[in-house]
Amino acid sequence: MSATLIDGKGFAASVREKVATHVARLKDEHGITPGLAVVLVGEDPARQVYVRNKGKQTVEVGMNSIEHKLNADTPEDVLLDLIATLNADPEVHGILVQLPFPGHLDEDLVINSIDPAKDVDGFHFSNVGLLSTGQRSIVPCTPLGCLMMLRAHHGSLSGLDAVVIGRSNIVGKPMANLLLGDSCTVTIAHSRTKDLTEVVRRADIVVAAVGRPEMIPGDWIKPGPTVIDVGINRIDAPEKGDGKTRLVGDCDFARFSGFAGAITPVSGGVGPMTIACPLANTVTACRRANGLAEPDGLTA
Ligand code: NAD
Repeated sequence: MSATLIDGKGFAASVREKVATHVARLKDEHGITPGLAVVLVGEDPARQVYVRNKGKQTVEVGMNSIEHKLNADTPEDVLLDLIATLNADPEVHGILVQLPFPGHLDEDLVINSIDPAKDVDGFHFSNVGLLSTGQRSIVPCTPLGCLMMLRAHHGSLSGLDAVVIGRSNIVGKPMANLLLGDSCTVTIAHSRTKDLTEVVRRADIVVAAVGRPEMIPGDWIKPGPTVIDVGINRIDAPEKGDGKTRLVGDCDFARFSGFAGAITPVSGGVGPMTIACPLANTVTACRRANGLAEPDGLTA
């Protein structure tokens, strides 16, 4: 058996198309241009590239992109003042403060200072509470992207046995809540889980979000489940030459391909959806701010 490849890159392109259509309608019918503000603290080159790509995609779908790059030693009160200004700006509908922060900044304080209605990362405690109680919230981007791909692949997820490996606030916990919301039977596994093999073996859906290269071997799963590999791990690749590296997921992709029904690759799986979903969330936030209906196909 050879697993179907879930094409996250193609799926993300279709999400951006939907976003662009919504943005055009907001402009034509209501005279509103959604705006996404991204704040980056520090000079980390990888995060700068990530933020640049986000900004480029924001403009490509027709939205306004506002970027604030702050020095790594920016005092907390300066960052909080900037967020207060963005919260009050009617042209800004979504705010992202790129994680992780330099150590002197209190992550929870900064995230919870964002207006929950503009918190397009969905990390504010108010959005976390709304999601976990099944109310309308803004949903974290990586789990939202995973849910969209799972729904597109399966149709209904109702009654399926889902195992989420990893219990982080940004991936594992919101993913589990979303799957529960779609009526899966959900197990959250983590570093203290006993007999992970047995837990994984009963799953119809496996979402792996651990951050350990290929820690889950293909023969742990029963034949046929859908596997969403969130993990991104860089490993040495001596076969490509001295000092070369490559990216792998948490699942042993080559062996999983023989057992799984469907699987996301690393790269081109979850990653592109994580970049597309802040755009979707900004459209959602903008429509809500203006008392308009939820955008089709862009929310949980
Ligand atoms: P995290 O470090 O916050 O959480 C990792 C989780 O894995 C923890 O809950 C821990 O309990 C669990 N864990 C650790 N060892 C384990 C083990 N041996 N068995 C079972 N569970 C174990 O990480 P995170 O922020 O949730 O990210 C997880 C991975 O996903 C990382 O590789 C990260 O780079 C990647 N990621 C990818 C995207 C994307 O867009 N593709 C987005 C976010 C995160």
